[in-house]
Order: sequence, then C-alpha cells, then structure tokens
Amino acid sequence: MPPSKQERREALKAVYHQARDCTRCPQLAATRNTVVFGSGNADADLMFVGEAPGKNEDEQGLPFVGQAGKLLDTLLEEIGLQRADVFICNTLKCRPPGNRDPHPEEIENCHDYLLSQIELIQPRVICTLGNFATKLLRADPTGITRLHGREEVRTFGTRAVRLYPIFHPAAALYTPANVEVLRTDFARLPELLAMAPPPQPGQEEERPAPAQTNGVPELEIVAVPVDDRQMGLF
Ligand code: URA
Repeated sequence: MPPSKQERREALKAVYHQARDCTRCPQLAATRNTVVFGSGNADADLMFVGEAPGKNEDEQGLPFVGQAGKLLDTLLEEIGLQRADVFICNTLKCRPPGNRDPHPEEIENCHDYLLSQIELIQPRVICTLGNFATKLLRADPTGITRLHGREEVRTFGTRAVRLYPIFHPAAALYTPANVEVLRTDFARLPELLAMAPPPQPGQEEERPAPAQTNGVPELEIVAVPVDDRQMGLF
C-alpha cells in the first residue's frame, strides 16, 4: 500500500529533523545559522528547486525570502499561485559562506535530502531554478540558457516527474531582460500542471489531472500545526 498523504508529511518532517543537525559539510555546518530545508505544501504538485540559501534565508530558516524570493512571489501570483500551493527548496540546504558557489562535494552530500523531498512530496512538476539545480537533477552539464522553458520527463527513485528548467530569479534580477524570459517560461506552468502525470515506472494507470479553476489547478492546502510552521510547512 502506498503511504498516505499524512504518512508522507510525517516522513518529510522526520527528514527535516535529520537535516537540521546535519554535519556532512564541515564548513557549512560551522558557518550556517540555520538549515534551510524548504517550505510550502507537503503535498504540492509543483516543486521549485533553487541553488542555496543566501544571507536572509540563513537568518530566517526559509527559502527565497530576499529579493529573488520577492520576484518568485510575484511570478507565482501572476499564474494564480501562492507559496502555500507549492514547495520551495534548494540544491543545498545550508548557506555557502559569502554566497560562494556550492562545491560539488556539498551538492553530493545534500543530494539525498532533495531526493527524499521529491519521493515524499510527490510533485508532478519540478521547476529547477538556474544551473545548479538543473545540472544536478538532469545529471548533465548542459546549461540553463539552452534548456530553459523545455519540459522533459525524468525519473527520481520510484517517481516519474515533469522537469521544467527555468532561469534563476536572482539571475533575472541582474539581467532585467531575463525577467521577461522568466515570465514567459512561468506562464507555461499552469499548462504543465494540468497535464496528466507522466506514466509511473511499473504502473499502467494514470492519476487523473486535478480539477481546474481558470486554467490553474486547484491545490489542497492543509491546516498547519504550530511546529509545522517552524519548518515552513503550510
Ligand atoms: N537563491 C536560492 O537559490 N535560494 C534561496 O533560497 C535564495 C536565493
């Protein structure tokens, strides 16, 4: 029997508790204030994967709370979604000091937290933001400039998911022309969410597409106990 939604949510919290004390990357463990596990709907159809927490995220323990996060919020709003509808996390759960690029061994150390998040949340669509998440989840060095806006089906563990790389919002902030590219790519998300989920490995049957409201899938939001809020779960 597949685990229930509640069982998956509890398992996700257990992974969070494990990640919270992680010391796999000695430098990151020594310099971080918090482990930024991710936040949002534990049963989201849409998951965003960014690069790594920055200063604000490290202070608040939540992903994308700085300028790039504001742009992400605006773009979500433009397609009728809010943070509580989606799950947002990063390739690295700890801030690299001085916001340097993640090191390959750090990405590797953190990889199974991300895979557990995918396995437990069971998103239909994973939107990778920028190069680090895209290269990691495609297991390929092709860059975001060539790939953005093109979905493909990828399998993670037991789950086939539509992977949709787009520019990182921080990169769009540096290059304003990229904001429009990002907006155009974002505009396709409702369509991707409305598609039937890709056939799952070893399964013939497909889950039906979720109910539609003005082209945007209706997403269920669960009530949140206080300790879940600490973790950023809605
Ligand atoms: N950039 C990221 O990639 N992730 C964050 O959480 C914030 C900024």
